[in-house]
Amino acid sequence: MKLIASIEEAGFAAYLVGGCVRDRLLGRALRDIDIATSAFPEQVTAIFGKVVPTGLKHGTVTVLEDGCPFEVTTFRRETAYSDGRHPDEVAFVPDLRTDLSRRDFTFNAMAVGSDGCLVDPFEGEADLRRRVVRCVGDARERFGEDALRMLRAIRFAAELRFELDEELRSGLRAQRERLALVAMERIGAELDKMAGGADPGRAFALLADSGLTRHAKETVAAALPGRAELPPDARWSELDDENARWAVLLLAAGMDAAGAGELARSLRFNGKRAARLAAALRVDGDLREAGFWEATDEAGRRRIWIRTALACGTEAAGLWLQAMRAAPSLAARRAAGGCAYWQPERLAAWLREMPAASVSGLAVRGDELVRLTGRKPGPWVAAALASLLERVALGELPNEAGPLLQAASSFTGEREGEA
Ligand code: ATP
Ligand code: MG
Repeated sequence: MKLIASIEEAGFAAYLVGGCVRDRLLGRALRDIDIATSAFPEQVTAIFGKVVPTGLKHGTVTVLEDGCPFEVTTFRRETAYSDGRHPDEVAFVPDLRTDLSRRDFTFNAMAVGSDGCLVDPFEGEADLRRRVVRCVGDARERFGEDALRMLRAIRFAAELRFELDEELRSGLRAQRERLALVAMERIGAELDKMAGGADPGRAFALLADSGLTRHAKETVAAALPGRAELPPDARWSELDDENARWAVLLLAAGMDAAGAGELARSLRFNGKRAARLAAALRVDGDLREAGFWEATDEAGRRRIWIRTALACGTEAAGLWLQAMRAAPSLAARRAAGGCAYWQPERLAAWLREMPAASVSGLAVRGDELVRLTGRKPGPWVAAALASLLERVALGELPNEAGPLLQAASSFTGEREGEA
């Protein structure tokens, strides 16, 4: 590799380290490539001329080679961790081995030099073959230093389909309360990677077994499904939208809209995601309340479905449906007498075939209603449009100006006396 050769030519040591070494041995696609070096950041800068000072405090600069970014970090060790999450101080060290020893798991603590030889002081390669996640050094101590590592262990176990080493598991039991020291944003990012990863079912089952989330915020602990609640039939790979995966998890946990919104905010998801998840859970609650699962006639189910989709938004209805389709046992749990009437394709078609999904899709506008009736604009306009929309969506009225205006005149006429 050119970049490593350039550093070596300047008289320093440089190695590929961390995730890229692990993923290369596993034959997985490489994501970011990290390089560790004995050169200080200013020396790396002098070698390449132009670098991005990504994390100077931690000894990291980003070097671009043929347009690709590489993070180059000076060999370092970490000193005491008094807050259970961040080292109090980072110290640069001259040797690779010390740098590798600060890393979390044996398979993340390997390096490859320019000669292609693997530097593997903690037997990470053997652990990859045994398919276990094992800490570098004493698990209890390492989790004591940085509690986020407990979530990372579970994430890697699910992602790589590995087991957690026994000593790691007992370290986790001993230190799990320390998760409370980790910033919610970091917990959110890890849980989101688990939800978006190769096997969310396994990740959240391991998480439930670990008892870890009990020590995060109450809103998080309450909203995540227990092991028995996780749908065993979930086809996660059908869901590439992360929010749809979260919807499955929240539906499995029996969350409502308020709980879903609170979870999303606790995990520091952005407002738009929080609103989307809450809306999908609202669809679930509204359908139940309207008797969707008990309705035995198709027309009745269609009416409830369309009204709910209009009330919560068709996007939310679509998200709910996507989640429910990927985990059919969720529907079985909702329909007490079995789910003979659960026909998700039908619901999808009804949603697709709606002639208008919002008032902006109607063939009349509010100002036209005002002009037609000669009444003062007011809240009645929105109510009239909503009523027209529902009738159009249900197929009771064509979405054409003439019939809509006619229907509206009778609607406003009825209300005239109340205004
Ligand atoms: P991926 O990016 O695929 O999730 P990765 O192994 O590259 O996996 P990063 O979070 O990018 O993970 O970290 C890069 C490397 O830094 C890791 O391989 C590991 O050696 C080290 N590392 C990261 N986080 C920690 C931590 N909390 N404690 C100790 N070492 C860590
Ligand atoms: Mg990485």
